[in-house]
Amino acid sequence: MADASTAPGSRDVVVIGAGPAGLSAALVLGRARRSVTVVDAGSPRNACSPAVHGFLTRDGSTPADFLAAARQEVSGYGVELVADEASAVVVVEDPTAPTLRVELAGGRRLRARRVVVASGIVDELPDVAGLAERWGRDVLHCPYCHGYEVRDRPLVVLADSIEGTVHQALLLRQWTEDVTVVVHDAGPVDEDDATLLAARGVRVVPGQAREVVDGEDGPVAVVLADGPRVEGGAVFVAPRFRLNSAVLDGLGARTVTGDMGTALETDDEGRTSVPGVWAAGNVVDLSCQVLGAAELGARAAIGINGELALVDAHAAREAAQRRQ
Ligand SMILES: Cc1cc2nc3c(=O)[nH]c(=O)nc-3n(C[C@H](O)[C@H](O)[C@H](O)COP(=O)(O)OP(=O)(O)OC[C@H]3O[C@@H](n4cnc5c(N)ncnc54)[C@H](O)[C@@H]3O)c2cc1C
Repeated sequence: MADASTAPGSRDVVVIGAGPAGLSAALVLGRARRSVTVVDAGSPRNACSPAVHGFLTRDGSTPADFLAAARQEVSGYGVELVADEASAVVVVEDPTAPTLRVELAGGRRLRARRVVVASGIVDELPDVAGLAERWGRDVLHCPYCHGYEVRDRPLVVLADSIEGTVHQALLLRQWTEDVTVVVHDAGPVDEDDATLLAARGVRVVPGQAREVVDGEDGPVAVVLADGPRVEGGAVFVAPRFRLNSAVLDGLGARTVTGDMGTALETDDEGRTSVPGVWAAGNVVDLSCQVLGAAELGARAAIGINGELALVDAHAAREAAQRRQ
């Protein structure tokens, strides 16, 4: 049910990104009888992974099945799903009905009262041959997503910063007794970290990784620059995260930088610093998993619906006063 204050040809909300965050926002908005279009470029972050784990009632679904079910649910509430890439969000200067315009690579232009950016992040892996093609299968980053599946195997941590590596290695001890850190780009391990790792039986192998190859004793092995191999049941890395936020270039959306990298800055509900533009999922919280991304999407949707309800009430009151 489009509200009277939605301009002709416009809709209440355009959601950019049909991952768990965007589709969750669309579900809540569709059920709130908002007119919604979701635009998606078709590259969900975990597409390379065999399964989604840790999402209550959906544990073990393939990422494709998970999203297909979500798309079916939102379609049931009249949400329009568009396969395209959003190239820009533009503020339309219209004092009577301030709106945003989302420009799509395919040429369509979508007017909306609010935009949700739920376009996710890209994982940038350490520059070691053989990592990228094994990403999501034998090269992993998140023990909560995949640790159980590789439990009791020898696990190798390929380090590129010592702080994150020590934490990751100590965490992995929860899933296996056999953890080896290949120091690679992390620099020397100091005395404090060395004693912590040693206390938990984590081996530390100095030296640079040359490539990751199929293993002889297990699925994968790290080959060091000077020749030796470290065999493993899986290799864990700490990717750097890059935001898929080019659509906001030129709008000056504020970002915030923390331990894990740079994310879009929002308030607790998901408002960015650009009026009318909201954000949810990994673009806001680099560490959130599927469940958390969906929650951020739902939270933004509830915030937007509340905001529009208030805007509409004010507009209706002004219109009524003008008629008196
Ligand atoms: C290998 C791997 C395995 C994982 N396994 C798990 C797991 O088991 N359990 C778990 O809870 N979490 C897991 N995660 C984390 C999970 O992938 C994220 O939490 C989740 O994808 C975040 O959802 P999102 O909606 O923010 O982004 P995404 O799922 O990445 O969705 C963003 C969508 O936006 C689209 N998009 C981007 N830019 C544009 C644009 N300009 N225009 C239109 N569309 C655009 C993308 O194509 C994509 O479809 C894993 C991550 C990785 C890397």
